[in-house]
This record gives sequence, C-alpha cells and structure tokens, in this order.
Amino acid sequence: MAEEQKIPYKIYLTEDEMPKAWYNMRSDMKVKPAPLLNPGTGQPLTAEELTPIFCEELVKQELDDDTAFIEIPQEIRDFYKMFRPSPLVRAYCLEEKLKTPAKIYYKFEGNNTSGSHKLNSAIAQAYYAKKQGLKGVTTETGAGQWGTALSMACAYLGLDCKVYMVKVSYEQKPFRREVMRTYGASVVPSPSDTTEIGRKILAEFPGTTGSLGCAISEAVEVATKNPGYRYVLGSVLNQVLLHQSVIGLETKIALDKYGIKPDIIIGCAGGGSNLGGLIAPFMGEKLRGEADYRIIAVEPASCPSFTRGTFAYDFCDTGMICPLAKMYTLGSSFIPSANHAGGLRFHGMSSTLSQLYHDGYMEATSVEQTEVFEAAEFFARTEGILPAPESSHAIRVAIDEAKKCAETGEEKTIVFGLTGTGYFDLVAYQKYNDGEMSDYIPTDEEIAASVAKLPKVEG
Ligand SMILES: *Cc1c(COP(=O)(O)O)cnc(C)c1O
Repeated sequence: MAEEQKIPYKIYLTEDEMPKAWYNMRSDMKVKPAPLLNPGTGQPLTAEELTPIFCEELVKQELDDDTAFIEIPQEIRDFYKMFRPSPLVRAYCLEEKLKTPAKIYYKFEGNNTSGSHKLNSAIAQAYYAKKQGLKGVTTETGAGQWGTALSMACAYLGLDCKVYMVKVSYEQKPFRREVMRTYGASVVPSPSDTTEIGRKILAEFPGTTGSLGCAISEAVEVATKNPGYRYVLGSVLNQVLLHQSVIGLETKIALDKYGIKPDIIIGCAGGGSNLGGLIAPFMGEKLRGEADYRIIAVEPASCPSFTRGTFAYDFCDTGMICPLAKMYTLGSSFIPSANHAGGLRFHGMSSTLSQLYHDGYMEATSVEQTEVFEAAEFFARTEGILPAPESSHAIRVAIDEAKKCAETGEEKTIVFGLTGTGYFDLVAYQKYNDGEMSDYIPTDEEIAASVAKLPKVEG
C-alpha cells in the first residue's frame, strides 16, 4: 500500500515527453490486414484510385503496412498541446467502491470541447487536406462526436466542412448539430435529397432514420463530385488507427514512468479506432513477442460485429460505392435497432483489428445497453465523470473484471479507454433514468439476412 500511494491520481506527461511520432501497428503484423478492393474490379485499390476520394498524404498512410513510426508534423503536435496529453487516471475511488484488489487505470479522452478521442485524427486529416491546398472536406457523423471534432479542426485551419449526420441523431441531438454549426460546418440530415444515393435510399426506404453507412455514401458522393473537396472518415481506416496511436503511446509512457505493466487492456469498439490506438504500442510488443497482454474489445449486443459477424470482404457503406474492406461485418445492409442508444452502430470493424482478432491476438465480448448504462451511472457517481455511452461499454467490462479480482484476490492491473463524455447523450440517460431503456439483440435470422447480401469476392 505504501508503495502504491506513490502513484498519483492522475499521471500526466510533460510536453517533452509527448509522442513525436505515431506508431503503425501493421508494421509488426506478420499477417497484414487484407487490402481495400475496388468494388468494380475486385482488385486491390491503388494510390491513384484512392486519391480522388482521400488526401494524398492520407492515402500513403492508408497503404503503408511497413513503416513503424510516422512523424507527427509540428503543426499537429502544436494543436495536440491544446488538449493533450490526456490524463491517465488511477481509479482509486472506483477500486475502493468495488472493494477490489485490482488496480484500475483509465485514459480519459473527453477533455476537449468535442468530447472524445476523435479530435486526434480530425486535426491530422484536416491538416493534410489543408497542406494539399484543398477547399474543404466532407464526412458523415452518427452520434456527432466525429462531426464536432472535424468542425473544430476545420475551423482552426480555415477549411470548409460538410457533415452528413444520421437523421435519427440529427433529430435527437440538436445541440450537437448546433455545436458543429457554431464551428462553421454545414450539417445535413442523412439520407437527404442533396445526393443521388440519398434520393435513391429515400425512395427505397421512405421514413428511414438513416445509418452511418448511408451517410458515408452521401459524403463520398459530394466529395468526388465537387472539385477541391475530399472525404474524411473518423474511424475504421488504417490511417485513423495510426493517428489514434497517440492515445496508447501516451498511456505506455505514463505507465512506464512508474514501472506499471497492465495485465488487461479494455476498449469499446465501434469501428475500432480508439481501441486500435489505445492498444497500439502494447500490441506491438505482443506481436514482436516482447510482452503479453490480455486485450478485450467491447461491443454492443445490438451491433455485434466481432462476436457474431463474418470475417469477409464487405462494403463500408450502405450505398455500396465505397471500397471493399475485409473485416468482421454484420453486412452493410445491417441497421441496428432504433432503440439502441449507446452508439457504436457501425456494421463492420477495422481491417487491422479484424485480422488481429482472427489471428487470436485479442478477445471480444458484447454487452447489453441496460447493463452499460448501469455501469455508466455507477462510474459517474464514483469517479465523477459523466461518461459517453460508447465509453461505458469499456467501463462495464472493466468493472466486471475488477469484480472477478475481488472474488479471486488477484491484483490485476486493468487499463481501459474512457473515450469521451456523455453531455450530448442525455436523451439516452433520460430513457435509462425513466426505466424505459430496453435491449435489442438481433436474431440469427436477421444477421444471416444481411450477411447473405455480402459481395462475392475471393479472400
Ligand atoms: C466514436 C466514438 C467511439 C467509437 O469509435 P471507435 O472508432 O470504435 O473508437 C467510442 N467512444 C466515443 C466517445 C466516440 O465518440
């Protein structure tokens, strides 16, 4: 106990200690993630084919499976200083409340106005767009964290920002929308009649509340049809995991300062970017055979891509215009039930994490949203932070693991990613507080129906 007290409640890094390069996990993978395919030809996409959609530098990062460290440009490091390093918190209060011998740490990414880790990649993507001399970027947003982060980054750099926001969120989260508009972005509910694909989806499914996949299709269409615009994506892609590695690198530096070695690392998984970032340097050690960690991805039972999906090539979008990625997927036509309030609604998963999961380097588990909000409430009352529902998936499993330690007496060290705050999720909290939250678990038939529509490709 005496020794333990030396570990402060929050471990910060000095500016000098902050990472100067991102770490590319793919460089240490023996089996690389499968390449993106051109949906027309079924062949791996070349840089030339990707540059009409994405910024040049980001295409390079997307396709680079070999370079271990990629320098963080000084301008991005300067922006990072506005909200980084993020604290690594020793959850002393939570440990005490749980009466667990486990040592719990969380890396808190909610300390910026956009309220999540997404700003780490937003500023990087906006920076490369600006450097290329573009006018603006287009994107989709679900719950709104990514759109908010991108709006902040674009405002800082003077870039135009067009956001397609999943209609159900646009209606349920008007405040999120107004934050984006305050930062200068234009926000359109998706599906909309401003794009060909949007009109097609509206005709086919009138009254649809939209999906991320559908908003992606619209944003890509607008980027490719407007000169001076490119599309940017807040998760799933290799480049996003690369930028998010700053989370894990900071975590590792902070832990190393006190000689702490985690046993279990837990993160929520939507498209996989925060988890991929948090685990990056630890997974690197694991891949190189230098250390071992238990790594757990947590997903919602209502959108269980890792635990009930199929490892196959699929579209990243509902409109089927985006490249094909090999990943754990529920099928691009899968739309999670509208009563699912907890985020993490994407049908697929990062190719890099999918390959690592497939090869046995990490575990995955799914949790129901009522128990997720129970964990969120417990955490808020214990540690003070109002967590995002997404983050609360990780909290749920961290608490469960800590409780197991209380039973067995094991002093495990648990690190989890607290990706953001829940101030814009109060409609969901209201449902929970009013006892109106329910769980929806898709049936095998529902999943089979959307998986049956997977594109037919080798691999
Ligand atoms: C977007 C988001 C997530 C999930 O996205 P990943 O790409 O899987 O990290 C998790 N937590 C918060 C707060 C988010 O905004």
